[in-house]
Amino acid sequence: MKKILINILVAFLLFVNVANVFAQEEKKDTLTVATNATFPPYEFIKDGKIVGIDIEIANKLARKLNLKLNVVDMEFNTIISSIESGKADIGMAGMTVTEERLKSINFSMPYAKSTQIVLINSNSKFVKIEELKGKKIGTQLGTTGDIYSKDDFGEKNVQSFDKISDAILAMKNGKIDAIMIDQQTGENYLSNDSALKKIESPYVEEEYAIAIGKNNKELLNKINIAIREMQNDGTIKEIVNKYIVTKDEKVQSFSLINKIKETLFEDGMWKYLATGLKITLIVTFFSLILGVTLGLLISIIKLYHAELNPQFNSLRGILLIVLNRIVSIFVSLIRGTPTMIQLLIMFNIILSSVKNLEIVAILTFGINSSAYVAEIFRGAFKSVKKGEIEAARALGMSFSQTFRKIILPQSLVLSLPVLGNECITLLKETSIAGAIGLLELTRGANIIISNKFTAYIPYFTTALIYYLMVKILEITFKKLEGKFNYVRD
Ligand code: GLN
Repeated sequence: MKKILINILVAFLLFVNVANVFAQEEKKDTLTVATNATFPPYEFIKDGKIVGIDIEIANKLARKLNLKLNVVDMEFNTIISSIESGKADIGMAGMTVTEERLKSINFSMPYAKSTQIVLINSNSKFVKIEELKGKKIGTQLGTTGDIYSKDDFGEKNVQSFDKISDAILAMKNGKIDAIMIDQQTGENYLSNDSALKKIESPYVEEEYAIAIGKNNKELLNKINIAIREMQNDGTIKEIVNKYIVTKDEKVQSFSLINKIKETLFEDGMWKYLATGLKITLIVTFFSLILGVTLGLLISIIKLYHAELNPQFNSLRGILLIVLNRIVSIFVSLIRGTPTMIQLLIMFNIILSSVKNLEIVAILTFGINSSAYVAEIFRGAFKSVKKGEIEAARALGMSFSQTFRKIILPQSLVLSLPVLGNECITLLKETSIAGAIGLLELTRGANIIISNKFTAYIPYFTTALIYYLMVKILEITFKKLEGKFNYVRD
């Protein structure tokens, strides 16, 4: 037990050290704004760009502060932690000022007002909010709607979703009865979807402000001055008015072909799937290369350690023992923790200064995969017949020669089917990278859903694309297996 604890401590210290190297302060000529672009009219995606009231205000703000604006899209409930970790300078996401949030971050002076409203299905009979006692309420995780609903209706009656569009879908499918949401975003959804209506009594009133790190007093002052100026000269009012929705009666189409056309081809929505597919393939490909290379290296260290039985009496022996210890801890940590947590640690801590999300994803998935690939190779090394190894050694080959000429070629072929499996797992696992804002295939589908308010077509199309890719991988690996089968004959 003590040994395990020491191992974990050593690994943790290593980890923090690496984290510090990566988390060096970058030059401050940009203003990085964390947002969650599923909150129209404050932030949403249009024609591939994040737009909305907050983004326009952020643009003006950056100009006033002489900084370049960099907008990063993430889940709403990770915005505050990304400001705390320094990944973002400020958060603008229609964020309500609350006492609880003020414990971790500061807020600027408010720049907009809102209320919470309740959306229901248009055929629903509820008239008053009180009638929702004991019913199921959907919310977006970490939002004030989520907090109020849990306080007022009880935790067990509230279902929190990552995206409000998922909650709307769940309500249409009868899984929940109502949705608590900010007024303008709620109105926006209402005007685009005739299957929804609202309960005509607003709930809690609130104010939106910009979230800023606790230690960033200077920025807080500058932002407050800028907001006051923009309020006095009418800039904020002008921006808000530009985005306030007027009810446009959408004609709902019922034919499947028309629905597909509307969902995927109007406003170039298919481009999100195309870009997502490209990024998914790039991330999978490079993660696989990294995973196999690193995995092979780890398995070789383990094999040499097992076969050569090193002692502390030579430099080579010490090196092998230490390396073996390090890779064993590494494999155990990677296999013992969820990939999602690894991704968030990489994004928020270790690689917090790396802007390129593809690199963050490739490093996370590649490193994660290497632990599994190492085990695949280790198993394959073991299944090479002992007799062949002994024969090679009896012929005078060194262990390294035996490894290169006998063990490795056979193991590579033996592990092909399992490697194929790992490749398929990796491809599908990249779908979680949307959580850090990477536009991979699943996130592409989610963007379409939050723009078009329908989930069936984007989800089924995406599932079909994944399925086709998996089929292509299966066929490729089968072909490879067939090609190399002679080694075993
Ligand atoms: N105003 C709400 C909050 O601060 C919701 C914000 C959002 O969903 N982007 O929690």
